[in-house]
Amino acid sequence: MTDPDRQTWDRMLSHLRAQHPEICRQWFEEIEPLGLVSGSFCLRAHSGVHREYLERHCASAFNDAFQNATGHLLPVRFLGPDEEIASESGGRAVPRSQRAAGFPDTIALNPDYNFATFVVGPANRYAHAAAVAVSERPGQAYNPLFIHGGVGLGKTHLLQAICLSIREHTPDAIIQYFSCESFVTRFTDAIRAGEMTQFRHWFRDVDVLVIDDIHFLAAKERSQEEFFHTFNALFQANKQIVLSSDASPEHIPDLEDRLVSRFKWGLVTELEPPDFETRVAIIKSKARLRGLEFPDDAAHYIATVKDTNIRELEGAITTLQMYSNVERTRIDVDLARRALGQNHAGASAGPSIQIIIDTVTDFYNVRVTDLQSKRRQRSIALPRQVCMYLARKHTRHSLEEIGGYFGGRDHTTVMHAVKTIEGRKGGDPEFHLVVDTLERRLRDRRA
Ligand code: ADP
Ligand code: MG
Repeated sequence: MTDPDRQTWDRMLSHLRAQHPEICRQWFEEIEPLGLVSGSFCLRAHSGVHREYLERHCASAFNDAFQNATGHLLPVRFLGPDEEIASESGGRAVPRSQRAAGFPDTIALNPDYNFATFVVGPANRYAHAAAVAVSERPGQAYNPLFIHGGVGLGKTHLLQAICLSIREHTPDAIIQYFSCESFVTRFTDAIRAGEMTQFRHWFRDVDVLVIDDIHFLAAKERSQEEFFHTFNALFQANKQIVLSSDASPEHIPDLEDRLVSRFKWGLVTELEPPDFETRVAIIKSKARLRGLEFPDDAAHYIATVKDTNIRELEGAITTLQMYSNVERTRIDVDLARRALGQNHAGASAGPSIQIIIDTVTDFYNVRVTDLQSKRRQRSIALPRQVCMYLARKHTRHSLEEIGGYFGGRDHTTVMHAVKTIEGRKGGDPEFHLVVDTLERRLRDRRA
């Protein structure tokens, strides 16, 4: 009770909850304050993954909290479960996975992205089952496992859950998790530095290779070539390969046929947007992770307002958390209405992006993945711009968010699309009619 380190840590926790709610997790309760050692305030996390997460994502917030709690400007140091408190980080037990790999840091895994926190529903049941099977029998169940689906539907979460689960059951396995972008960057760096031999050699040691957002390989010929060889080497050695993408293999633009066919050798499975019940369960799971109480009606309200991208559910939870901190009130449906009502497209206030996409793709007879691809043919560019225009006009999503729905385009592209469509409507009566028709269909779909 009187333990001063415990008191400091408790004060830090309340500061973190008030000032940095978005990083706070229920498991922070399990962090153990060890006190001041060689000029740092030491905290012990209950697993190596948690320590890594704290180090990478929370260091500055924790330093800030320590200063706020004590008035002293000292750094916070995070230790893993088996680390000696006396030693500097040099004493950290380095697992075989990292020793053998010897490759500069791959992306740290998020401890929240595990199977226990992944809510299973009709839209993701198969992808989830496949991910679990792969984590139980790497290299034997499905190889490669290819998970695809739109933005924010849980690809990264499932991929990381596979890594965390394998790491837990087989601590010695060398698991490498990359974003495709960092694979490409490393590859080009290796070429530039004349270190291709090391680069290739390094991959031979890997037991499980997980690459997120593989569609980023589109049109990158040399990286595709290199990845092709990496893939073959690992595949032949029965090593597990897991890939994610925003489109199925054959719909990734400018991807070599031989890669398309290899990506389909194992299991290709799709994540679809979750239904209402699943969204409610996800909100509750996310709230629990943050140690929050979310009554049913508040969760239902968010699930109604945010009906496409799961990442937005998280944003809504953060907003509510801030409101409830500032107003010092409990989270309930009234607060949810006040916090989310004015600033977000409500179900009754306008169509969702999904409805706009459905309406436009029906009308122009194009695929959603085409709209999200980099393709610039007029037959695709026009419907894409129409979508952006309608989303801007009829939803309250920001330009960035709208860009995110269409292959991660930036806000200037969205602005340009809106201007283009407005200009064309003004000068072309027939096109004006098309847009009117689409807007009428949007209204009908909602009715
Ligand atoms: P993607 O990689 O497909 O764009 P993410 O995996 O980053 O999407 O998911 C976005 C957010 O939604 C993450 O916070 C993730 O934890 C959450 N999420 C997605 N699907 C689920 C699910 N079925 N259960 C719990 N959380 C989910
Ligand atoms: Mg992702």
